[in-house]
Amino acid sequence: MIYKTDYHTHSTFSDGRSSPEEYIAPAIEAGLSEIGFSDHLTLFKEFEDWNMSPEDISPYLFYIENLRKNTKNIKIKTGLEVDFFAGKEEEIRDYLSSLPLDYVIGSVHYLGEKPVDNGPEFYEGKNIDRLFELYLDSVCVAASSDLFDIMGHCDLIRIYGYKTTSDLEPLYRKLAKTMKQHDVAFEVNTNGRNRPLADFYPDRKFLHVFKEENVPVCVNSDAHMPSRVGQYFDEAYELLRYVGFSEMAVFDKRIRRMVPF
Ligand SMILES: [Zn+2]
Ligand SMILES: [Zn+2]
Repeated sequence: MIYKTDYHTHSTFSDGRSSPEEYIAPAIEAGLSEIGFSDHLTLFKEFEDWNMSPEDISPYLFYIENLRKNTKNIKIKTGLEVDFFAGKEEEIRDYLSSLPLDYVIGSVHYLGEKPVDNGPEFYEGKNIDRLFELYLDSVCVAASSDLFDIMGHCDLIRIYGYKTTSDLEPLYRKLAKTMKQHDVAFEVNTNGRNRPLADFYPDRKFLHVFKEENVPVCVNSDAHMPSRVGQYFDEAYELLRYVGFSEMAVFDKRIRRMVPF
């Protein structure tokens, strides 16, 4: 049996539809060995309906710890999906340093003031090549901050299916090299399949770049409801195997180890 983990899930502590507890049975059913919760934490922005405010952190950690104590048959991990903002690295580091987490997913949702995944209007009238370049560069800066264990949906800018005219391989190459250098894993995020993009993140065309640069990988669903835990994982693992990956990143108290699959 493949050792499967799903570290990217959202509960009612942020914008998920169910409590963490409701994810457990579907996770076991999906054949997962571990399930991790990664509710959204967005510092330096007004509270919005999709994220958790810093005051919710203690109840969140307490809840997950309790769930861990009371759950058999699957390991439970505590994570967060934290928004990256360039220039705020030290504040983010200070904030995270006191939290008992197994891993932190670093995500770029904002380019400037606006999130890139809150509707296709963001893209209208903009230079798409330039947006992709800005986005991938921003993920690169996030990866080099040494704040995160996993980069979330590293090319989320593909969400609405916009395509560039430029060749993006050099940008993906730079990103992969940066992740390797800073010991950050990338995720195959299967939730892109449920979005207008209708495919995984990152672009499968560039998965070989991550393999060539030897970047650790994990497979995550980014589920916002229990029925999507472990969704499309067989296909994601097959894809990774095809590209040449044979092991995946597992996290405990922010220490990574690799497990063969
Ligand atoms: Zn995200
Ligand atoms: Zn997410």
